[in-house]
Amino acid sequence: MEKLSNPQKTIEIIQKYGFTFRKKFGQNFLIDGHVLDRIVDAARITKEDCVVEIGPGIGTLTQYLAEAAGKVVAVEIDRMLIPILGETLADYPNVTVLHQDILKTDLAAIAQEYNGGRPLKIAANLPYYITTPIIMDLLEARVPVSTMTVMVQKEVGERMMAGPGTKDYGALSLAVQYYAEPYLAANVPPNCFMPRPKVASAVMHLTLREQPPVEVPDEKLLFRVIRAAFGQRRKTLANALTNAATLPFTKEQVSAALEQAGLPAAVRGEALDLPAFAKLATCLAEQTE
Ligand code: SAM
Repeated sequence: MEKLSNPQKTIEIIQKYGFTFRKKFGQNFLIDGHVLDRIVDAARITKEDCVVEIGPGIGTLTQYLAEAAGKVVAVEIDRMLIPILGETLADYPNVTVLHQDILKTDLAAIAQEYNGGRPLKIAANLPYYITTPIIMDLLEARVPVSTMTVMVQKEVGERMMAGPGTKDYGALSLAVQYYAEPYLAANVPPNCFMPRPKVASAVMHLTLREQPPVEVPDEKLLFRVIRAAFGQRRKTLANALTNAATLPFTKEQVSAALEQAGLPAAVRGEALDLPAFAKLATCLAEQTE
């Protein structure tokens, strides 16, 4: 079948099935072949790869992935799209469509069933309403994933890449940089989608690290400290950490840990890089020993 990557073919398919776009599922379908090529190139997919696509929509990106990969498993939440995918992916025997929510999908089981337990590659034009939960789930769950190539809002891409002292720097930057090496693969304007989103987008490529770049005694504590620091961004770090309901430390313990980590008493969280947060989390852990 002719590829879907143009507005006419997309309209033809959605009209044939009487499909209406659902905002609640973040449905903005790609209609530009160059962008689809860029995603597949950035993901460096080969016939050796098993790719999980999050949210195939009508199968536009799936067709490109299926041509490049050995196997594609496409996870789609909207049941209205399942019969459409049956038609648009009929020529691709290496594609399996699963009708389910990606946040409830067991990727370790998928890696086992379709890739002999080897790491998966993730590719997606992500639904923007749950971009951060999806990315955080994939990073934190320690599922067997080697790379993620994802279309996100441009602003989310900037947050992933941001460093200390910038307005975009925050918990997402630190989490992404702890688990992965991110780079911006392409900027994508709204006219590459149907319907057009209000914001610009970016294709981000994340290579997951085998080892984190810093070592801490308690990873969960590190991320609780990071979230507390940015949850109250305008406060000093000492106040933000003392006030955080998720942390058990007294004012004195926080002051002692800051001093031990070599940080000024009035420092703000946004000034700390990942090694500084790691050092602080290590000193805080020692306070309760
Ligand atoms: N991949 C298609 C494309 O590029 O044209 C569609 C991308 S569209 C931005 C996002 C897709 O994710 C939609 O098909 C939507 O129904 C699906 N989706 C939304 N939430 C989901 C979830 N929790 N699990 C799986 N798919 C989801």
